[in-house]
Amino acid sequence: MHYPPTPPDSEVIIEFYPEKCKACGVCERACRDVHHFPAGSANCAVYAILKDGSIVKTHPKKKIPKEQIERLVHLTCFQCLEPYCMKACPTGAIRRDGGMVIVEERLCIGCKACLTACPWGIPWLNPKTNKISKCDLCRTLSLGIPACVSMCPTRALHVRWKVKRPYEDFIEILKEQLIYQAAGSASK
Ligand code: SF4
Ligand code: SF4
Ligand code: SF4
Repeated sequence: MHYPPTPPDSEVIIEFYPEKCKACGVCERACRDVHHFPAGSANCAVYAILKDGSIVKTHPKKKIPKEQIERLVHLTCFQCLEPYCMKACPTGAIRRDGGMVIVEERLCIGCKACLTACPWGIPWLNPKTNKISKCDLCRTLSLGIPACVSMCPTRALHVRWKVKRPYEDFIEILKEQLIYQAAGSASK
């Protein structure tokens, strides 16, 4: 895995208000339901950055004590202006369209080049279809509002246009964490 010199610029993202989030998992479940993804899979998830520096995926049934949490992050595709995934795809299955980065499923051969190329490990291979998936703000389903945004009970998610470097601080923390983990596994 490699790292970009700076966080990505985007034309549109799903903006997250951590102070409103209850880590209820409804966004993740809504994504799974509308896309008919296998159990446990989704194009988004809420992570907790803990005060000890670790990052854990939240789960509605496994509450993390509030005092341990530094902040919550809704992690999904950044819809990069210059997507690493798109550049890596050998079949042209990934394209930018209307501010979003779209996977054209019929062209995907499941080679995972995009998955390796994305510095945040966002794309994932759907074992049911052997095709890559990642968030496109529900564009390919023609939903006016992404399922996660419309279903969030606390309005912690919003679609925002014309943003620059979303979640800069989170990306820095994540980068450090991944480097730390890589160093740990390399030293074993
Ligand atoms: S649905 Fe809203 S409140 Fe629940 S985990 Fe997702 S962002 Fe947080
Ligand atoms: S999958 Fe990764 S590289 Fe591709 S647009 Fe999303 S965040 Fe950017
Ligand atoms: S897995 Fe699919 S979308 Fe990803 S690089 Fe390979 S062909 Fe392209």
